[in-house]
Amino acid sequence: MDLKIFDRMESEVRGYVRSFPVIFQQARGSTLIDETGREYIDFFSGAGTLNYGHNNAELKGKLLEYLEEDGLVHGLDMASTAKKYFMETFERVLLAPRNWQYKLQFTGPTGTNAVEAALKLARLVKGRSNIISFTHGFHGVSAGSLAATANSKFRQAAGMTLGNTTFMPYDGYMGPDFNTITYLERLLEDPSSGMDHPAAVIVETVQGEGGVNVANRQWLKDLETLCRQHDMLLIVDDIQVGCGRTGSFFSFEQAGIRPDIITLSKSLSGFGLPMSLVLFKPELDIWKPGAHSGTFRGNNLAFVTAAQALDSYWSDKRFEQDIRRKEAMVRDWLENLVHSYPMAGLSVRGRGLIQGLVTPARGGLAGSIARKAFEQGLVVETSGANDEVLKLLPALTIPDAQLRQGLEIIERSLAAALAEQEQREQAKVLKFGGKGR
Ligand code: PLP
Repeated sequence: MDLKIFDRMESEVRGYVRSFPVIFQQARGSTLIDETGREYIDFFSGAGTLNYGHNNAELKGKLLEYLEEDGLVHGLDMASTAKKYFMETFERVLLAPRNWQYKLQFTGPTGTNAVEAALKLARLVKGRSNIISFTHGFHGVSAGSLAATANSKFRQAAGMTLGNTTFMPYDGYMGPDFNTITYLERLLEDPSSGMDHPAAVIVETVQGEGGVNVANRQWLKDLETLCRQHDMLLIVDDIQVGCGRTGSFFSFEQAGIRPDIITLSKSLSGFGLPMSLVLFKPELDIWKPGAHSGTFRGNNLAFVTAAQALDSYWSDKRFEQDIRRKEAMVRDWLENLVHSYPMAGLSVRGRGLIQGLVTPARGGLAGSIARKAFEQGLVVETSGANDEVLKLLPALTIPDAQLRQGLEIIERSLAAALAEQEQREQAKVLKFGGKGR
């Protein structure tokens, strides 16, 4: 495959094409197909954007029907039939059964646009600028969201000082015996802690980019309580792990918390079409008309597929049960790997169909597994501060047989990567006469 034009014309900033250096041409369900006709199983799902698979037939059918009838495609934030139906469906399928009242703000099309709006609104409501974010958190790379993103690679690329954010240790950051909420509580209660009183806390219930770090349910509940006690808004960034990824439509439901503000994007349109949404409690809606704007807030094609995705998958509980069944399958498989290779220092963590195979922080094992898996026809990525976590994000709709095939590839790739590591170690021992440096 000739990738020269990508090297010659596309900026050095390009990323995923380096990890998966082929030219993809088609995709169906959980299968990606490159220009030579080679097929790959997709355990990446566009970083969590394709929860219902590529070119999902039901969603595509609705989209084609809509286009065939010359349905409105672009409409800023004017009222449209597609948007009306999306809001009615959102209310009927998600809000009404939970007895939740949230206002909807449609922002520019990508996740970071939703986060920018959420942070801006929280600051406006509380009249304070500081926001609490967490170690290893990822919220986007535009200036406001980047300030709340922990990863130094992205922060260093900002070209300016990023401020108005205080980073706190996420659940488990200080080890299993340290409750990081008590630290945050101490700072909030101490008028001389040096921390400016925050307007809000922004949190992911499972940190996707940060290494599949899972917040304990009680930790999330305690965080909510702390927000109420200290007059801070609770923002759950559900961009990566919302829309069913953890087993329920909203990832925080299992913790029984009610955030003040929620951001959604990625799999919201269900078809890979850009769409972002901010939900907030009605009393927070202090926006002046047009005070926050954007040309692409009305992706009507995304509204069509998003409404259909809610109708097709979230109108009854069977889909959730199926996600849990697949979660158990993936989890068992990965845990077996951990037990099969006790010397490799592996562990597993995750919730629903975001599962991480955690490898030692140094040594590049996860990257090596991902590369070998790709050679064998599986697209899977790594995450975490040192790219030490192999992050499994299969479509929620993946057929069992394909899920198994993908897991088998991971198993073979792990065995090959460990064998290679072992050979390297032995070569070192030979070279340094047992002093292995
Ligand atoms: N928030 C979370 C939790 C994310 O995982 C991401 C992207 O990975 C974003 C925000 C930013 O979304 P986008 O890349 O669409 O701007």
